[in-house]
Amino acid sequence: MPERQDVILGGGLAGLSAAYSLQSAGQSEWQVFERNKNPGGLARTMEVDGYRFDYGPHILFTIDEEIRELIQDLLGENFHAQDREAYIYHHAHDLYTRFPFQAHLHGLPTSIVADCLNGLMGAVEKQARGEFNPTNYEEWMRGFFGDGIADHLMIPYAKKIWTIEPDLMDFSWIGRRVPTPNYERIIGGALSDEVDQVGATAQFWYTKRGGIEPLPRALAARVQNLNLERTAVKIELPAKRVVFDDGEVVPFHRLVYSLPLPFLPRFVDNLPPGVRAACEGLEYQGIYCINLGIDREQISDKHWIYYYEDVFPFHRLSLPANFSPDTVPPGKSSIATEVAFSKYRPLDKDTVVEKTIDALKAARLITDDDTIELVHTEEIFPAYVIYDLNHATNVEIIRGWLRENDIWNVGRFGEWQYFNMDHSMRSGRRAAEEILALDR
Ligand SMILES: Cc1cc2nc3c(=O)[nH]c(=O)nc-3n(C[C@H](O)[C@H](O)[C@H](O)COP(=O)(O)OP(=O)(O)OC[C@H]3O[C@@H](n4cnc5c(N)ncnc54)[C@H](O)[C@@H]3O)c2cc1C
Repeated sequence: MPERQDVILGGGLAGLSAAYSLQSAGQSEWQVFERNKNPGGLARTMEVDGYRFDYGPHILFTIDEEIRELIQDLLGENFHAQDREAYIYHHAHDLYTRFPFQAHLHGLPTSIVADCLNGLMGAVEKQARGEFNPTNYEEWMRGFFGDGIADHLMIPYAKKIWTIEPDLMDFSWIGRRVPTPNYERIIGGALSDEVDQVGATAQFWYTKRGGIEPLPRALAARVQNLNLERTAVKIELPAKRVVFDDGEVVPFHRLVYSLPLPFLPRFVDNLPPGVRAACEGLEYQGIYCINLGIDREQISDKHWIYYYEDVFPFHRLSLPANFSPDTVPPGKSSIATEVAFSKYRPLDKDTVVEKTIDALKAARLITDDDTIELVHTEEIFPAYVIYDLNHATNVEIIRGWLRENDIWNVGRFGEWQYFNMDHSMRSGRRAAEEILALDR
C-alpha cells in the first residue's frame, strides 16, 4: 500500500460518499474498509422468510438539492415518491390523529384541544414579551408550543424515545426534525382535519423493490477501492497506521472515520485524558427492532404510527408493505416496531416481544385470530445520539483533536449527530472536499 494514501473506515453511506467524491475528483490514492460482507451500514435491508426489513424502517427525504439529485440518480426507476400517512394513536381515547400532533389536534376530546390551545396562547404571549429563552429541551417544548401540547404528547413521547428526561437534553438538534407549524396553522388543525400536511416528511421516497439497501448498493457499485469484511481494530498514532483484525497494518496519509465516536478509546490506545473523558461522556440509546410477519393482507393503510403512552413498549411502528408491497410475500403484512433502550432504561429481552404483541392487540392493529408467522428481532446500539447538555462540548473536544491528527470524523456516529441518510452522505462528501482542498 502506498505511504500517502487516504483510508476511509466504514462503508456506510458517509464512507461511501467520501470515497465517491474523492473518486469523482480524480483522486485515486484511497481505500475504504468495511467490516460487513455488504456495504451500507445502517441503510441495509435484511430478508427473512420472504419479508424485507430495514435496520429500523428508513424513508428518504432531503432539502439538499445535490444529495436529492444523487439519490434519484442512484435509484433510477426504483425511486418512488409518496405522500405520508403518519398518525399518532391515543389509546386512552382509542383514536388516531395525524402526525404531527401539534398540527392536527382535531378529533381529540374538547378538553385536550382546549388545554393545548390555551397553552399555545400563553406561550405566544410569552414569546412576544421576549420570555422565550429555553435552556433545555423541556423548556423549549413548553416555551414554543405551551404546556398543553408539551404535557399531552411531546414530553411523554420524548421520554419514551430518548430514555432520559428532556430537561437533561439540549435542543440544538431540532432543526426540521420537530415540525414547528405557526400558531395560525395549529389553530387551523384544531378546528378541522381538512388541512395541509406539514413537516419535512410530508412527501417521502422509498424504493419500489429491495427496501432501502439498493441506495448504498448503487453507491458502492460506483466506488472502486472498497474492501469488504475488513475490520479495523487499532488506529496507531502518531504513526498513522490502521491495524486490522487479520494483522495487516495499513498506513494512512489522512483518515476518514465513520465509526461511533464513543468507541474511539478502543481504537486509539494513547488518547489524551481530556479526549478520552469526552468520548466517555457521549450518551446514546439503542433501538430494539421487533419485526413481525402477519398472515393477513393490508392490516392497515398507514405508513407509520407513533405511540406515546406507557402501555406500549415501542414508540413507533411502521407498516413496510405500505412503503412498498415488495417488502412482504403476496397476501401478507408486516409490522416493524422500535423499542428504545439505554443504560438509563435497560431492555428486558425476555418479555419485550410478548409485551409488544399484547400492545398491538390492545391497539387493535392485530387480533387474536391473526397468525404471526414470523418474529424477527434486531438490536441497533448505538442507534440515536442523545443530546445531553454536554454533547456539543464533548464532540468539539474530540473533533479538534482528531483533526490535529489528520482524521476527519464523518457520518451519524462519526460526527455524533442526529443525521439522516442525506446528512450522512453530505458529511462524507464535505470531508472529501476538505481533503481535496488541502491537495490543491
Ligand atoms: C433506527 C434508525 C432509523 C433510521 N431511520 C432513518 C430514516 O427513516 N431516514 C433517514 O434518512 N435516516 C434514518 N436513519 C439514519 C441513517 O441510517 C444514518 O444517518 C446513515 O445510514 C448513517 O450512515 P453512516 O455511514 O454515517 O454510518 P453507518 O451506517 O453506521 O456506517 C458505518 C459503517 O462502519 C462499519 N464499521 C463499524 N466498525 C468497523 C470497523 N471496526 N472496521 C471497519 N468497518 C466498521 C459498519 O459496519 C458500517 O457499515 C435511521 C437510523 C436508525 C438507527
